[in-house]
Order: sequence, then C-alpha cells, then structure tokens
Amino acid sequence: MIHPVHVDDDVLRTAAPVIQRGTTVLLDDYSAFGRTTPTYGRGGLASQAALRQALCELEGGEGAELYPSGLAAVTGAILSICRTGDEILICDTIYGPTRRFATTTLADYGVSARYFPAAIAMDDLAAMLGERTRLIVLEAPGSLTLDMLDVPGVAALARERGIFTLIDNTYAAGVLFKPLAHGVDISVQALTKYVCGHSDVFLGSAVANGEAAALIKRGSRSMGWAVSADDAYLALRGLRTLHARLARHGDAALEVAAWLQGQPMVREVLCPQLPGTRGHEIFRRHFSAGNGLVTIVLNGPEMAEHAFFNALRLFGLGFSWGGFESLAIPCNGQIRQRSFAAQTGNPAIRLHVGLEHTADLIRELDGALCAFAAAADGNTHTGTGQPAGQTGASTRPGRGAQEDSAT
Ligand SMILES: *Cc1c(COP(=O)(O)O)cnc(C)c1O
Repeated sequence: MIHPVHVDDDVLRTAAPVIQRGTTVLLDDYSAFGRTTPTYGRGGLASQAALRQALCELEGGEGAELYPSGLAAVTGAILSICRTGDEILICDTIYGPTRRFATTTLADYGVSARYFPAAIAMDDLAAMLGERTRLIVLEAPGSLTLDMLDVPGVAALARERGIFTLIDNTYAAGVLFKPLAHGVDISVQALTKYVCGHSDVFLGSAVANGEAAALIKRGSRSMGWAVSADDAYLALRGLRTLHARLARHGDAALEVAAWLQGQPMVREVLCPQLPGTRGHEIFRRHFSAGNGLVTIVLNGPEMAEHAFFNALRLFGLGFSWGGFESLAIPCNGQIRQRSFAAQTGNPAIRLHVGLEHTADLIRELDGALCAFAAAADGNTHTGTGQPAGQTGASTRPGRGAQEDSAT
C-alpha cells in the first residue's frame, strides 16, 4: 500500500480554501527539474500561498512571510534585517518578549539595542540616530499601557536617513491601522490574536514593501521557518470574520472603558480609542477604531489586586488576547522591566473585552472593583460583590512568574 493513492487533479471548487498538506512536490518529467517552483513544501503550498496573498491585500504590501508564532515573526524579521555591528532603536512600550529577544539572542549576535519613550519628540529621536542605526522597532498602541506613538513621523524620519522601520501591528490586526501606507517598511502581526481569533493557533506574519520585502523573504528562505497548511487554513477562516469580530470587540471595549472611567476605584483608564484618555488625539488621526483591549490603573495598593482578580468569572485569568473570550492579567511585573516606566505602585490591570454580553462583563467588573475596595481597606475577606466562597488568596504572583509568562 505504498503507491496506490491517486490524487485527482480536478478537485471541485468550494467556498473554503484548500488545505494542501505536503512536503514533496511531484514533478511531471525530467525537464521539470529546475523549471518548476516550488519544488518543496517548506515555504508553503496552496494554503500558505492563499494566506500570504490575503495578508498582502489586507496590509497593502508586496510580500508576506509566515512564521510559526507572532514572536517568531518579530524575531525572524529583525534577524533578516540586522547584521553584526548594527544598532536598533526600540520603542520602550514594546511587547515584553521582543525586549527579551533584544537583550539575549540579538545581543549575542552583536546587534545592540537602545530604547526610546513612546512620547518622544521627533527631534529627540533624530538625535538618537547614528551611523550604526539600522532599524527602528515600533508598536502602537504599545503593549499593556497602550501608549500611542507618532508612527508616520517616525517612518518619515527613518526614510530620510535610510533606516528601516518595523511595527508590531498586532493591535490593529492589519485592519484598524495601515502602517505600510504611512511609510513603515515591515508590518508584523501575531496572527495568533485576532486573525485566528479563537485562542487555538500560534501563527505570525511579516508583510513588507521594497527592499525590506526582499530581505525578509531571503531571511525566511535561509532560516527555514515552516507553518502548517492546517494553521494557514485556520488563519484564512479567521480572516473571513475578522472585521465583524473586531468591530464587536471594539464597541464592547469602548462601552466598558467609558463605564470604568466613571468608577471611583479606577484612577486611570488606558484606552486610546476613548475620548479624553491619553493618546486619543493621535489615535483618532490614524486608527479607524479600537480593539478589545482596555487597561486600568486602580486607586489603591498593588497588594490588594488579588481581590479584583479572584472576583472574576467571565474574565479568565490568562495571558494573550484576540480570542472570543474576556481575559485579565496584572501588568506591573512587565511594566517594571521598561526603561521609562512611571512607577506608581497602583495595580495596572489589562483587560481583553471578549464577545460575551457587555452588560454581564460590566456587572462582573463592578463586583471586582468592590472586592478590591474592600481589600484595599484591609477587609480582605468580606469584599462586597465577591462571589460566595471567594476569599481572595493574599499571595501576589511573584515577579518572576509574571515576567516568564509575559505574552
Ligand atoms: C501576543 C503578541 C505577540 C506574540 O505572538 P505569539 O503568537 O504569542 O508568539 C507579539 N506581539 C504582540 C503585540 C502580542 O500581543
């Protein structure tokens, strides 16, 4: 039974794209050697090609590469651009594991990194650029604190100096903001988040134009990342409903954020799509809408934050976002890793607003804020609004635990 499987060339057309699994590509005859491409499936067959094409259309790029995770897309694209002796400048509010990559592997390869605050003036950033500066790495809104950044301004400055720019565009999912249209060279996404959208796939992409597109293609070929046809299919399926899901997440987050803004236990709402918050003016200029992320800083000590988390039921306690479900994590452990972080001692909590009924989520947050208020008062075990049986364990997650699981 080694050879009898017959593959029909005339596969019927379906609304869904094909899943083509395969390593070897069979060639018709001898003359096809050297004439047919691809001759091997590592770089992807029909499913991956369809996804790459869809991502080029979505982000307005000439070339797209796929990677086995969002982090692999960030690191893969950076490794494709940088050479030993180069320096890269990174926005301080970058995704935590990207910083870890810069301080470990990238440093080992002789590429140094410096950080700049998201609110930096363009003159100050221009003054940081040197002979060795090869790449500027951006993220907007930044991870956890959702700080905004003048992306078109940075892209224009970099272009003038012949420096590449890369943005982690996971927040916008390629939809809410189009960085390539603003002159950024490479837009990276964790497709793991909104594109796949169901908390069950790891996948990343880098879409680029011009010389950067050629470089990331060369890097992918040489380093050999492969993604499965099944995962590519799930990303293609996610793209079908991406706009509808994102709009719903964005509307719900805006409603939740507006409610949170009126709560006495909430010191600050970090949510740039909400009018009146930090970064809103610049957000409004470049983004068509927001996604489901809302971060809050609470009025009270960090040691009471356990009461907030332990009162949550619909919100899962878990890293990541972009799936259908609501999630919450404490942020201070990761924020303390930054170079320019304001140290407040107040709990910073990132929420992902999922597709549940928004009224149910608000009711739950109301209870969690009451539980936090009670714990902040020292009444750890009698918090109003705390579900029966919940007596908030008073242990905080260790710093190390938060850093290691940073996503
Ligand atoms: C989650 C995330 C990543 C990493 O994606 P993975 O697929 O989990 O590796 C990268 N950047 C940002 C901004 C993210 O939120």
